[in-house]
Amino acid sequence: MSTLIRGGTVVNATGAVAADVLVRGEKIAALVAPGFEVQADTVIDATGKYVIPGGIDGHTHMEMPFGGTSSADTFETGTVAAAWGGTTTIIDFAVQAKGTSLLSTLDKWHAKADGNCAVDYGFHMIVSDVNDSSLKEMESCIDAGVNTFKMFMAYPGVFYATDGEILRAMQKARETGATVMMHAENGIAIDQLVAQALANGRTDPVQHGLTRPPELEGEATSRAIALAKVTGSPLYIVHLSASHALDAVTKARDTGQNVFAETCPQYLFLSLEDLAKPDFEGAKYVASPPLRPKEHQTELWRGLRTNDLSLVSTDHCPFCFKDQKELGRGDFSKIPNGMPGVEHRMDLLHQGVVRGELSLERWVEISSTTPARMFGLYPRKGVIAPGADADVVVYDPSAEQTLSAATHHMNVDYSAYEGMELTGRVDTVLSRGAVVVDGSGFHGGAGHGKFLGRDLNQYLI
Ligand SMILES: [Zn+2]
Repeated sequence: MSTLIRGGTVVNATGAVAADVLVRGEKIAALVAPGFEVQADTVIDATGKYVIPGGIDGHTHMEMPFGGTSSADTFETGTVAAAWGGTTTIIDFAVQAKGTSLLSTLDKWHAKADGNCAVDYGFHMIVSDVNDSSLKEMESCIDAGVNTFKMFMAYPGVFYATDGEILRAMQKARETGATVMMHAENGIAIDQLVAQALANGRTDPVQHGLTRPPELEGEATSRAIALAKVTGSPLYIVHLSASHALDAVTKARDTGQNVFAETCPQYLFLSLEDLAKPDFEGAKYVASPPLRPKEHQTELWRGLRTNDLSLVSTDHCPFCFKDQKELGRGDFSKIPNGMPGVEHRMDLLHQGVVRGELSLERWVEISSTTPARMFGLYPRKGVIAPGADADVVVYDPSAEQTLSAATHHMNVDYSAYEGMELTGRVDTVLSRGAVVVDGSGFHGGAGHGKFLGRDLNQYLI
C-alpha cells in the first residue's frame, strides 16, 4: 500500500521545500522533486498546503484520577481528538499511588491504554512514593521504555515530594541517564495562602490564581535547578507559566546545565482575566500553575523564540463544567485542576506563525521535532524524512475556523477557547501510513495506536 502526498510544501524544523512525499506501508519512503512521476495506490493533493510531521504532545492526562473524580477523556476519546488536531503521538502520565510500586502502576496504565488508542502513545511515570524499592524500580521502568519521572513540589499530602526525596530521585536519574520532570510550585506556602483565602470568605475561582503567585513558581523552579545542579541530573520543567520561572531556566541553560522547559497553549493565549470571569465561569480555566496576568505571555513567546522554552505540550486534563468543575462551587480549592487542549495545540501554535511570533520551521520544531528528540523518539517521529514513521499532517494555512465545544471532539462540555477565530486548520492526517482524518471525516480507530518504548533525551550536554 503506497500513498503519494503531492504538490505541498514539506516543512521540517530545518527548512521548508516543495516536495512530494511517498509513503509505503507505515513509513515514509522518499521525498520526491515536484513533477517527478511516481506511481502510488493513492494520491493526496496537498497543493497550497504544508506537509508537516505529526504533532507530538508530551504532556497529557487521559482518564486520570484527581480529587475524587477522573479526567473526562478516555485514551480512546482523547487520542481521537488529538488526531483531529494533527497530533499523532501523545505521552501520558502513569500515576503511582502512595504505597504501590512503579511497575504495577505501569501495568495499570498499559491496561487502560493498550488497544484503546487511536494514535501512538508513550508514558512518563509520576513518582509519588520515594523509597529504596521505587528508586530501584526506576531502572526497570527505563528498560520498559519509560525514562522520564515526574515529581511534584506542589500538592502536599498528595503528590508532594520533599527536597530530600527529590534529591534521591535525581541521584538515580544521574546514574541512569533518566530525566526528572518537575511540577515546580511551592505547595507548602501555597496551601497556607489557600487556607487564608477560604477563611476570609474568598472562594471564587480567581482565588485559585491569586493564591498561587508567580514568585512561588519562580522559587520552586530555582530550587529544582539547584537540586539538579548538585546531583547532575537532567531536569525538565513541565507547564512553565511565569516569567519568574523562565528567568531561572534561562540562567541555568546559559551556564550549560541540562535544564529544559515546556509551556502550554493556555499560558500563551489565556490569562488571569479568564479565571476572573463571573458566575463561576472562571472554573473552566482552573489549572496548576494558574493562568497568569497577560504580561507573562510576551515573555513566554520570547522564550520559545530563544529556545529557553524548548517545546509546547498541552497538559490536557479535561474536566466537564457540569458535575466536575462544579464540585468547587463555594470553594475554589475543590475545583478539579486541569483544562482541555489536546485537539487545539497545533492550530493555536500556528497562530504564532500568523502573528509573527514564530517562524514556520520553529512551529514544527516546538510541536513535533523537539518533543521527538527530548523524549527519545527521533528520528522515528518528528521529521518528514525517508525511514521515519509516516505520521504526516497536511495543513491548510489559509483555512479559517472557529473553536467551539459544539464542534470539538474532546469529551468535555466546554471549550476554553470558545469562539476564538483561527487561521489555518488540519486537512489530512496520516498515522503510520494510514489516513485517520481527512475532509470526509475520521477513519482511524481505537487500537491503531501502538505503545512507544522511548530512548533517552537526545539534548543532554
Ligand atoms: Zn500535568
